[in-house]
Amino acid sequence: MRSRLLRQEIIATALKMQSLGLNQGTAGNLSVRCDDHLLITPTGQRYDTMREEDLVELKMDGSVIGPGTPSSEWRIHRDLLASKSDVSVVLHAHPVSATALACLRREIPAFHYMVAVAGGDSIRCAPYARFGTEALSMHALTALSGRRACLLANHGLLSLGTSLANALALAVEVESLSAMYLAALAVGEPHVLSATEMQEVLEAFTTYGRPRSTLRYGGSRPAQ
Ligand code: 13P
Ligand code: ZN
Repeated sequence: MRSRLLRQEIIATALKMQSLGLNQGTAGNLSVRCDDHLLITPTGQRYDTMREEDLVELKMDGSVIGPGTPSSEWRIHRDLLASKSDVSVVLHAHPVSATALACLRREIPAFHYMVAVAGGDSIRCAPYARFGTEALSMHALTALSGRRACLLANHGLLSLGTSLANALALAVEVESLSAMYLAALAVGEPHVLSATEMQEVLEAFTTYGRPRSTLRYGGSRPAQ
């Protein structure tokens, strides 16, 4: 079987999505770029019953290689991987707080500096279209322009990564930001950081968490 280790890693990540409360039942799906193809979770199957051979290999033209039926959201996964060469993983989930905001069709503004983790000064909410449609994929592509995460109206969230681990971590972060935003909204209207303040955060993120030795100033003083 092609890419056995990768298949094991996809299933392990799908199970983590479930144990972290990002997904339940058959909600959500996950794909990874694999050479010039993609590997994706099958449609309508619980993660705790998923075996390596249940993952589905797709060509970039959408045709299926081998047995199995891919996730109904294969277009979103294929279109994002095709249009973003720096992305290797697409994760889709229905976690409670992000989905609650998506049902209000509210984007997440810069109410907290960590919103910049998705690449900009907001986490957009893509307009509604039925699950599994090309229209939903088009909406997602637009909402993810210059971003690594978005909400999908009346549905859930998408996160992108260069690895399974960082796509999962971003989904957890978006869910946590959604819970904070909902908590703040329950009391009042949160203050939103300005474009300049968020630009400063985005700049600081280019060095945040990097070993001192890799930074331009050679590590003689701490990052500001
Ligand atoms: P699949 O089981 O087809 O992946 O669908 C789950 C889902 O979340 C649809 O948006
Ligand atoms: Zn979904």
